[in-house]
Amino acid sequence: MSLRLNRKSSNVEMTPEEFRKAGHEIVDKITEFLESLPVKPVAPRKTLKEMRTILGNSSLPTKGTDSGKLLNEAAELLFNYSTFNGHPKFWGYITSSATPIGALADLLAAAVNPNVGAGNLSLAATEIEAQTIRWIAEMIGFPTDCGGIMVSGGNMANFVGFLAARKAKADWNIREEGLNKKPLIIYVSSETHTWIQKAADLFGMGTNSIRWIEVDEKQRMKINDLKKKIKFDKESGNYPFIVVGNAGTVGTGATDPLEEISSVCKENNLWFHVDGAYGSVAAVLPNASKDLKAINLADSIALDPHKWLYAPLEAGCTLVRKKEFMLDAFSYHPEYYRFEGDENEEEKPINFYEFGFQNSRGFRALKVWLALKQAGKNGYIKMITEDIELAAHLFNLISEETELETVSNNLSITTFRYIPDDLKEQKDQKLEYLNELNEELLDRLQKSGEVYLSNAVLDGKFVLRVCIVNFRTTKLDIEALPDIVKNLGKQVDQEKRISK
Ligand SMILES: *Cc1c(COP(=O)(O)O)cnc(C)c1O
Repeated sequence: MSLRLNRKSSNVEMTPEEFRKAGHEIVDKITEFLESLPVKPVAPRKTLKEMRTILGNSSLPTKGTDSGKLLNEAAELLFNYSTFNGHPKFWGYITSSATPIGALADLLAAAVNPNVGAGNLSLAATEIEAQTIRWIAEMIGFPTDCGGIMVSGGNMANFVGFLAARKAKADWNIREEGLNKKPLIIYVSSETHTWIQKAADLFGMGTNSIRWIEVDEKQRMKINDLKKKIKFDKESGNYPFIVVGNAGTVGTGATDPLEEISSVCKENNLWFHVDGAYGSVAAVLPNASKDLKAINLADSIALDPHKWLYAPLEAGCTLVRKKEFMLDAFSYHPEYYRFEGDENEEEKPINFYEFGFQNSRGFRALKVWLALKQAGKNGYIKMITEDIELAAHLFNLISEETELETVSNNLSITTFRYIPDDLKEQKDQKLEYLNELNEELLDRLQKSGEVYLSNAVLDGKFVLRVCIVNFRTTKLDIEALPDIVKNLGKQVDQEKRISK
């Protein structure tokens, strides 16, 4: 068989005409989709079984199909059977509405397809990523000459900081000799996200090396307990190396006393990492709390542009005060890599493969960079402020409702629960029933497609949780919520009592 040198018939190539036509069609469809979001159900009213039936279980296609047709079919599937975190009434987890410019940016990034692993392979993209990192640092008051990298999300961003910490603080050559010299110990508040278990586990220390520091009634780390536990470990021959502070906990948006944590770290020569996946960008607000502003004392910060910078998934980011700590933890120089730059140039290229986990890397930064330019710092201040004001407004509305109990309000997270009138007096004795009731209520709210909330568990109470990282949510959307919850709550309560 002869090699076909004319590959115009390559099965994945599209002619300019085909690309233009399919591209225009899909952009038209996306435009209609975005326009219709407010009147669509937030979540699909379909079961997993139905979804699997629709998709079918045929084997891998042997023959190809026309690209335009396929794109249209894929769009229909996604528009009909997705949960829309861009819907104005989506307030679940910490998943934001996505900037439309981000969607177009991903298309552009994929079309050019630079490999942002090495500066020489992606001159423009690497420099845009570096600028994006500087702007994010500037936004939150962190030194702009810090090291940084874009990653897939908050978990990965925290892992990068964690490994930089481990290398910096181990007083032996941990990269060659491994972990088994001294028992490395980690300090986090009990409200810390599960990334910390994954990190302790995946990076070989084991979850028993995590010290869970108690929190106060506002879910903030208790500094005395932190000090006590560090002292105890030191006296027991353990090797403390990192304290993680939260800038906006995943449950209720609480910010730990970061300034005090920073002092404790300095006194004990520990790395101070801040998990700011959710809350750190709120440090841009002129009225940000003293604690939030203290993220600039951190050795490393994890943040999540796909949360409060409204980037489409996926976009996380790690900042490390000194970039040498990232190189120390991640850099290798394989002989077949020739990415040191032009000898005649004064400036050396940035090679992001030396700053983190990945080797080949996509152009995640573009969608973040463009949105930062589109909205500007002031635009972000406005959007973040409004999200916070909406959460506070909801808290106030719920406080006025007799059948709803407010539980917390921090940043843009408000938690509350439904309590039937006749159980108000005995809510402590009826805790178990109220937990079941609110859990069922949450499930029904999600399935209703009317709104999308998630939950938290606070002092043993199952609470409904509204997290607004959504530039489409209006005051009217929020004002509709209390009635929706009360009506459905009443119904679920009645059904549960009958079935008892
Ligand atoms: C969301 C979140 C994470 C995890 O981020 P992903 O992007 O989901 O990986 C970690 N910590 C906090 C505080 C978060 O809010």
